[in-house]
Amino acid sequence: MTVGVVGAGISGLSLVRSLADRDVDVVAFDKRDSPGGIMRSKHVDDRVLELGPQRLRLTPGLESMIDDLDLGDRLRYGDDDQPIYVYHDGSLSVVPLSVREAITTDLLSPAAKLRILAEPLTGPPRADETVDAFLTRKFGKQAARRYLGPLYSGLYGTHPKNMLMPYSLGRALEKAGVERSVLLWVVRKLLSGRETPPICTFEGGLGELPSALYEAYDDQIHLETPVERIEPVDGGYALHTSAGIEYVDEVVLTPPAGVCADLLAPVDADLEATLRRFNYNPIGMVYLESDFDGTGIGTLVPPDSDVRISGLTWNASFLERDRLFTCYVDPNTDPEMQERSDDSLGKLAATEFERITGAPAEPIHVHRWNPGMPAYDRSWTAIDDLEPPAGIHFCTNFVDRPGIPGRIRAANRLARELTA
Ligand SMILES: Cc1cc2nc3c(=O)[nH]c(=O)nc-3n(C[C@H](O)[C@H](O)[C@H](O)COP(=O)(O)OP(=O)(O)OC[C@H]3O[C@@H](n4cnc5c(N)ncnc54)[C@H](O)[C@@H]3O)c2cc1C
Repeated sequence: MTVGVVGAGISGLSLVRSLADRDVDVVAFDKRDSPGGIMRSKHVDDRVLELGPQRLRLTPGLESMIDDLDLGDRLRYGDDDQPIYVYHDGSLSVVPLSVREAITTDLLSPAAKLRILAEPLTGPPRADETVDAFLTRKFGKQAARRYLGPLYSGLYGTHPKNMLMPYSLGRALEKAGVERSVLLWVVRKLLSGRETPPICTFEGGLGELPSALYEAYDDQIHLETPVERIEPVDGGYALHTSAGIEYVDEVVLTPPAGVCADLLAPVDADLEATLRRFNYNPIGMVYLESDFDGTGIGTLVPPDSDVRISGLTWNASFLERDRLFTCYVDPNTDPEMQERSDDSLGKLAATEFERITGAPAEPIHVHRWNPGMPAYDRSWTAIDDLEPPAGIHFCTNFVDRPGIPGRIRAANRLARELTA
């Protein structure tokens, strides 16, 4: 069997590793001149800026990959005892993620705190329910609107009112093994004594992981070689790349849905049309320098707030990245985002940062993702119609979990299926 992989982001790289370790003939192509896709670090004046993920949870799968690649001594641990804040009513309140925080936070009224305790009496998600309706029904309006909704939907840039449970949070809860009650699941987890894996990154940024994977498997990975189209041929597929044609038995695609649609148009017109239905939200990332000395992991900004950013990561605090903060902007929080110049986006982020923290900030870099994150909005019903023909596989964040540990697990699972 020969497998052709489109893309050398973390999904493609993990798949190459998993298949090569099973002695499968695998070849991957990426259009960019460096590996990692979204998982990319940029160095600006001795600073490490994370263009995509800011940090990881060191799950067992990730740890074994890091050991195999001899990257253990490059690890830098974050302080996950620090709180996450939400910007509410003109000030920062602690997001209640532990029992102590739940009791002490000023984010919720005493009645709203008691209302959360009624959650086990409420039923499981309903088929046509939005994330906002589900969280409100389970936990009450204050908890749903002030922090639970933003905590889940923030990175996707989609309002919880536009996310359907079976296509977003419902899938995540099911995969985590949550049945009727989220609260009882949390309590069981706490009682089991199983620790949450620590937060980590690498000294030179998260980009060290894809770089090391690429170095370990560079014979099988061709950078600066875009796949231009995929055609069915007798018993397999022809990958037309900028460097020639590669004939393979199985094809795995890892890019966003729109790119998959372009590439698969010659294979299956219905599949192409289905892939075009998935929405993505653009994301603007603004890197700020500030003397703000708050202790925390970051700030959520609820979608209905008048602040024009969707959140902040406090890299300076929990990762000890000197004076560095990362600010997120999306078209829901700032409808003019797409038209703004980088300079204007930087100024907007610095202004909103000062409004939230009270401290001035200077923009040092702007990066834009478009497509950014899968929106997991109502367009995700398209997943019910996604029926790839034999030999075509998706190992992407739009069909499965988007987090890095989830991407690695999905790649390992697909490698097992392909070799079963
Ligand atoms: C701003 C942001 C912050 C995030 N934060 C976190 C976080 O804190 N923690 C976390 O766990 N996850 C986070 N995520 C999610 C996670 O980073 C992504 O889901 C994951 O990196 C996706 O990896 P991938 O390999 O599936 O896709 P990608 O990284 O998109 O890789 C796809 C690859 O395909 C290549 N490609 C595209 N077209 C072609 C073509 N025609 N031919 C060849 N190659 C092609 C691209 O160059 C790219 O390298 C974040 C995502 C974003 C956008």
